[in-house]
Amino acid sequence: MKRYITMLIAVIIAVILTSCALVSPKEAARAKIGGEMTAHFIDVGQGDSILLESKGEYVLIDAGEFDYGETVLSYIKDLGAKSVKYVIATHPHLDHAGGLRTVINGVRTENFITAETDSDTSTWTKLLKAVDELNINYIDAKVGDTYSFGSSEFTIMGPISDSYDGYNGYSVVVKAVCGDISMLLTGDAEILNEKEMLDAGEDLSADLLKCGHHGSSNATCTRFLQAVDPAFAVITCGKSNEYGHPHKQTKEKLELLGCPYYTTADYGTITASTDGKSLSLSSSDGSMRSDVYKAGEPKNTDSRLSFIGNKSSLYFHDPTCDTAKSISPENKIEIDTYEQALKSGYKPCRACDP
Ligand SMILES: [Zn+2]
Ligand SMILES: [Zn+2]
Repeated sequence: MKRYITMLIAVIIAVILTSCALVSPKEAARAKIGGEMTAHFIDVGQGDSILLESKGEYVLIDAGEFDYGETVLSYIKDLGAKSVKYVIATHPHLDHAGGLRTVINGVRTENFITAETDSDTSTWTKLLKAVDELNINYIDAKVGDTYSFGSSEFTIMGPISDSYDGYNGYSVVVKAVCGDISMLLTGDAEILNEKEMLDAGEDLSADLLKCGHHGSSNATCTRFLQAVDPAFAVITCGKSNEYGHPHKQTKEKLELLGCPYYTTADYGTITASTDGKSLSLSSSDGSMRSDVYKAGEPKNTDSRLSFIGNKSSLYFHDPTCDTAKSISPENKIEIDTYEQALKSGYKPCRACDP
């Protein structure tokens, strides 16, 4: 009997040693870093779908139009995901929420986050019904609430108000953080929402910005862009889309800031990876690889993104405002920040409303 027990112990020890050996030195090193996050900006044409991944836990923000539901679901399954911890529907528009029902029907989903609206479209109603029937925990997005996944977390930054004219205003804005690296993902939030977040005094600084509303000129205002001060920007839009996204004003502001930006129209699916200390982007097809940004490095040090004042009229403008471009050189003055312009006695232009 004693011999059997000795043998059993030997077998148990052998099993334990073998399983320890299965952890490769590379995996052990990865585990030691203590934080990794990848954001996948999945190419869903003219729409949004962002999958965040950290240590085997997943957060899905939107899933494009209905027809892209299968694309997003396959993408998630190909990564080996068995479940998604949080699904965020930024707002009810079809280019964001359309594919979500297919996804939650195809992969186990634990929580569903959105901001309450009065939308009663059949897509939205069916989505909410599926959330209920699948017993997915429904969470009403509340600014300031933080949720963790893997070794990362995200905080709800918007919407600030509970009533807006259009559904874009209700966009759930999240800031995802892994170690010293952060990403600000804004759905279709527009300039009104950006100004609300600025006025609320939120810490909007981030190393990556997913520009609001597919790079439309009604998002990514100068003040907001200066506050975020991203090292990289991503714009989600379809090739030759009917809206002309991204608009030239958004591109011009990013160029003035000196911030490299990448669109899914140009590169297809884009991934942004961080170990919590550095951040770099690449496209799935290998055609694009960004520089590596290291946390704490000064960003956009050669920025020329400033407001334009008219010394004669004492109005100040957004740098992309047509009126600003026609100011004569002797009357034109560059003013670094919005606050400085006000302090110097300039009034905001009524047309561009900087
Ligand atoms: Zn929208
Ligand atoms: Zn949209």
